[in-house]
Amino acid sequence: MSELMSDPMSGGPRVLHVAAEIFPWVKTGGLGDVMAALPPALAAQGVDVRVIVPGFTALLDALPLTDSVRLRTPFSSERVRIGLAPLPGSAVKAYLVDYPAFYDRPGGPYQAPDGGEWGDNHRRFALLCWAAAALAQGADPNWRPQIVQCHDWHAGLTPAYMRAANAGVPSIFTVHNLAYQGYFGAGAFADLALPPEMFSVEGIEYYGGLSFIKAGLYYASRLTTVSPTYAREIQTPAFGMNIDGLLRTRTGVLTGILNGVDPAIWSPENDALLPRRYGVEAVEDGKAAAKQALRQRFGLGDMGDGPLFGAITRLTWQKGFDIMLQALPGLVDQGGSFVLLGSGDRGLEDGFRAVAQAYPGRVSAEIGYDEALAHLITAGSDSILVPSRFEPCGLTQLYALRYGSLPVVRQTGGLADTVVDANSVTLADDSATGFAFDGETPDALIGSVQRAATLYRADPSAWRRVQRNAMRRDFSWAAAARQYGALYRDLLNARD
Ligand code: ADP
Repeated sequence: MSELMSDPMSGGPRVLHVAAEIFPWVKTGGLGDVMAALPPALAAQGVDVRVIVPGFTALLDALPLTDSVRLRTPFSSERVRIGLAPLPGSAVKAYLVDYPAFYDRPGGPYQAPDGGEWGDNHRRFALLCWAAAALAQGADPNWRPQIVQCHDWHAGLTPAYMRAANAGVPSIFTVHNLAYQGYFGAGAFADLALPPEMFSVEGIEYYGGLSFIKAGLYYASRLTTVSPTYAREIQTPAFGMNIDGLLRTRTGVLTGILNGVDPAIWSPENDALLPRRYGVEAVEDGKAAAKQALRQRFGLGDMGDGPLFGAITRLTWQKGFDIMLQALPGLVDQGGSFVLLGSGDRGLEDGFRAVAQAYPGRVSAEIGYDEALAHLITAGSDSILVPSRFEPCGLTQLYALRYGSLPVVRQTGGLADTVVDANSVTLADDSATGFAFDGETPDALIGSVQRAATLYRADPSAWRRVQRNAMRRDFSWAAAARQYGALYRDLLNARD
């Protein structure tokens, strides 16, 4: 029995997670939240877990390194330092790939301040992947992973580097969003220091160029994504983003595991960002205080007896807020008010500024990114709108459920797996937690908005019951961690 096989779970398997983001230092969306919450949840269940992320300035400034290794790379960058830092408040340690020429830049993790992608992103994330593969080969004499779990395209080359080096360690590739694929022209291949034969249809070649996500999907031992429904959807042409063919060939190793909610950050009982904290028993007072704060912040007028709808979102095609713009007159007709916090597509940003002017006191939008305001909207809205065209898991509706702000969602991906539509059956058996619609049309969305507004206005006690159901649903990271733990066991046992 080799060392890697020895009694995998009793000492806890050593698992390395590879990703580009980790909240609170680097976050552009749900991935950052997941990387902050999943590793500690795994550690709590006995997994010996570490993460590796690019050494972005915000991380290197915040986290003192306790140890480091220097590695010679096959790239023109030649040498890199990989520092080790304990993550505050958890048993998890993070490796930071310290290479300032790549990671010490203004702007976001992927984009320059003008919003354009960095031209050398293939090299920036290849270095992350190569460093993770080096750890899989024992680059840190004190800790060698038994499994490497890679998150989204930024980590996608890791299984390719591991395969090229015969690392002898299994890998998992986790899809958080198949729409972002890390596609680069064929000329980028020369910068990756991979064996030439990997530039092939049976490899990382993709429509004449190369794709980081394809590398992950092709070379990883197992694949996961962040909800069971999305795991099925991405194997179809409608949701498969042109890579469903490959996913169908890997159907036997692909599973969906739902994300969870980090209660230290997202629970109305503990949330220091709210004017008044609340639990399931004091919902009305807590939500009224948050709603009042929202009214002031957004300059909302008298809302009558209609509900306040809220949204917190990246403004991209995926999220369906172009449909929302068309649906807004209908929402106002239903007596609803609406606040939005979001940023992204310039046309959508302008569109929401314009409707806010068209409906003063009823519709308001803040264009930007604001963590504290996201909490206030989640708590102070009666209902959170998530009309996504596709949604791998979705966190905003999970937060909305916790805060008793009944989500209105499109029936897709993780939204379908987490929100139970209120109808005569689910209202009667107390399983309803929100409102769901099918299709991509403003009318379909308005239909659900109307059902929400009617229940809110006409049957307050039924609304309260649905709120209680929603707040009591358990989307814990512990549940997700148990499923990943089972997958790790399975992977290690498969190698006996
Ligand atoms: P995605 O990762 O596709 O953006 P998720 O629903 O999985 O969608 O996660 C979105 C996360 O980003 C949530 O934590 C949400 O609160 C946050 N978020 C999105 N847009 C904003 C914003 N403009 N300001 C603050 N937080 C935001």
